[in-house]
Amino acid sequence: MAEFTMELNDEQKEVRDWLHGFAADVIRPAAAEWDEREETPWPIIQEAAKVGIYSLDFYAQQYFDATGLGIPMAMEELFWGDAGIALSIVGTGLAAVGVLANGTEEQIGTWIPQMYGDTNDVKVAAFCSSEPDAGSDVASMRTRAVYDEAKDEWVINGTKTWATNGGIANVHVVVAVVDPELGSKGHASFIVPPNTPGLGQGQKFKKHGIRASHTAEVILDNVRVPGSCLLGGKEKLDQRLARAREKAKKGGERVKNAAMATFEASRPAVAAMAVGTARAAYEVALDYARTREQFGRPIIDNQGVAFQLADMRTSIDAARLLTWRASWMAINGKPFTAAEGSMSKLFASETAKKVTAQAIQILGGNGYTREYPVERMHRDAAIYTIFEGTSEIQRLVISRTLSGMPIR
Ligand SMILES: Cc1cc2nc3c(=O)[nH]c(=O)nc-3n(C[C@H](O)[C@H](O)[C@H](O)COP(=O)(O)OP(=O)(O)OC[C@H]3O[C@@H](n4cnc5c(N)ncnc54)[C@H](O)[C@@H]3O)c2cc1C
Repeated sequence: MAEFTMELNDEQKEVRDWLHGFAADVIRPAAAEWDEREETPWPIIQEAAKVGIYSLDFYAQQYFDATGLGIPMAMEELFWGDAGIALSIVGTGLAAVGVLANGTEEQIGTWIPQMYGDTNDVKVAAFCSSEPDAGSDVASMRTRAVYDEAKDEWVINGTKTWATNGGIANVHVVVAVVDPELGSKGHASFIVPPNTPGLGQGQKFKKHGIRASHTAEVILDNVRVPGSCLLGGKEKLDQRLARAREKAKKGGERVKNAAMATFEASRPAVAAMAVGTARAAYEVALDYARTREQFGRPIIDNQGVAFQLADMRTSIDAARLLTWRASWMAINGKPFTAAEGSMSKLFASETAKKVTAQAIQILGGNGYTREYPVERMHRDAAIYTIFEGTSEIQRLVISRTLSGMPIR
């Protein structure tokens, strides 16, 4: 285990500065344009691929950083640049985590490279769990995967929604019901390879924020995938289902399902995205408050403004510390006995919403216009309290973990 320190090591500082440079020079200047266009910023993803930020190697290096801080540090810097563009760059990584968490070594080696493509022909991937009637309530999922033993194929039917990169992805990771009797314990994750017949994009959503990130429905109409596309393999699934049936008979000890394993691994990463957006808005507000003069002095001379900035910075630092703690616990295999991963996501996402709203207030009329970036940052920040589990769901997870009670 690494010795305790609050400082990034030299290598981490170097990576952080490199990412910050990319965020400042490439992402931030393009943010307003892609927000207005509401399209995936392919040229920026390609640029990120060329310098090595959009790649499996980079993601894996950060993911396996021994201190656990690689991913949160990377997310904070990229989302400091712009949340919509950054989500277009890291959305593939969220799908890749689904494969890393549940896939065999062969599946990881086969599919993750195809999620990224190469620098001349970049690709993206999508993780599809949510459905129109199954958002927070994952157990209501209807998308069904049925095994065709004669052909060793799975046949998948259903409609997924709000999928980041849904329909434009080269590789889709789809969560589906394999045993309806078991609720969320009867789910499994599948790879849907490129150009598989039957998978199509439904509606593309026009959104409040993160508009450079593509969000759409994914329709699965008799999609057939080889048996080898079941993440983790059939034997492991059969064993897991047998255990779940046994436990259901005995009275319901909890079993982690495939989708929950993915969410567990990615929550502190989402918290770090929120920290990035909050920090970006705070920095704009601090600069503005120092230079904007009213009543013959900079507005920061007023306690009413300065104290807001003090509170903003304090919350951001607290959010980062919660995030780093959760990431450190995850890499060191510490049990999340107080749902520390959910705590980080809850606090950081609520902080981002609050801090970006305070930034608008500090910029006054300018803050409310698209001449300044804080109104975009505020629209973007609203997503953090919704995806990867809403704030209410984080509170449920935390309070259930603390109390051991089935809080509703
Ligand atoms: C831009 C965007 C990108 C997304 N990307 C993906 C993706 O890539 N893949 C994917 O699978 N999904 C994705 N999602 C879906 C996202 O994870 C869901 O929207 C989220 O889980 C909430 O589900 P819901 O929208 O159905 O809300 P609902 O579950 O209907 O919740 C509505 C409200 O009720 C509250 N609520 C629900 N149940 C309870 C309860 N028990 N107690 C208290 N309050 C409760 C919620 O907190 C919320 O405030 C994305 C969504 C968006 C908007």
